[in-house]
Amino acid sequence: MANTVASDKTVSYRELGFVNTREMFQDAMKNGYAVPAYNFNNMEQLQAIITACQKSRSPVILQVSKGARDYANPTLLRWMARGAMEMMKELGRPVPAALHLDHGDSFELCRSCIDNGFSSVMIDASAKPYAENAALTKQVVDYAHPRDVTVEGELGVLAGIEEHVSSEKSHYTDPADVEDFVKKTGVDSLAISIGTSHGAYKFKLKPGEKVPPLRFDILAEVEKRIPGFPIVLHGASSVLQGYIAMINRFGGKMEGTAGIPEEQLRRAAKSAVCKINIDSDGRLVMTAVIRKVFAEKPGEFDPRKYLGPAREELVKMYMEKNETVLGSAGRC
Ligand SMILES: [Zn+2]
Repeated sequence: MANTVASDKTVSYRELGFVNTREMFQDAMKNGYAVPAYNFNNMEQLQAIITACQKSRSPVILQVSKGARDYANPTLLRWMARGAMEMMKELGRPVPAALHLDHGDSFELCRSCIDNGFSSVMIDASAKPYAENAALTKQVVDYAHPRDVTVEGELGVLAGIEEHVSSEKSHYTDPADVEDFVKKTGVDSLAISIGTSHGAYKFKLKPGEKVPPLRFDILAEVEKRIPGFPIVLHGASSVLQGYIAMINRFGGKMEGTAGIPEEQLRRAAKSAVCKINIDSDGRLVMTAVIRKVFAEKPGEFDPRKYLGPAREELVKMYMEKNETVLGSAGRC
């Protein structure tokens, strides 16, 4: 259906009111915080992200994955994001917002997003050999930069499963590669692997075992090689255990979950890490609240009565992240 729409008409993100990530990251770097990158697949998540970031005066990166595009339809998603910008303007004092493609896996997908109002794209060729990764990333940069769209690349592979992205084992970023990669490709930011992981089951821990700390030594080494360059952390949900407990209390079964401790993310946000991706925590909040409503009010059948409370709780969680974890609140 989407393919029947004429694709010769392109729209720039500026017309929609978005900004690219360049200035956002400069400010984050200068002031020691990270910009939140929150994923959305539906209206309630998007409303919650916008509401929370506007309330806490935080810049925001609205993140759309390939899976989200498949789920919600790319045209609808993009118009939803556009609607969110309009809503923010009506509410007054909109915060800077970027529309970003998460884990773009081909030049064609990145180009399609750039032509359709995205202000930022990620090309993730990190699973490919180094030379291929660099070549594909450069191809995307060469298309994006004349249109003033910013590009995120990735070096190193995260473990875990996030929609189309999955890897059994992580491969930490080799700091020896970063300088060459950044120079060769011209990317605006770089996702690195220092022990974060996608999904709600980030680590297979034995009883009594603690989550292994992030590899701040690798981060420091990367910073030394490319000083002042914006670094991105993927898979940075904390997998908030309060919501896991709520899910399990109301009929769910999630055992062995683990995430990145918030104090480690706070520490990362104060460094060259300028963008922190959080998706799983939002999923957990929605699931927990919906389960609670279903358990307490088994007669309820109006989606507004369970999606509404889920949305409210999401707002709280995002505001909390902005204020206490990322340090992005009150920055705009
Ligand atoms: Zn990711």
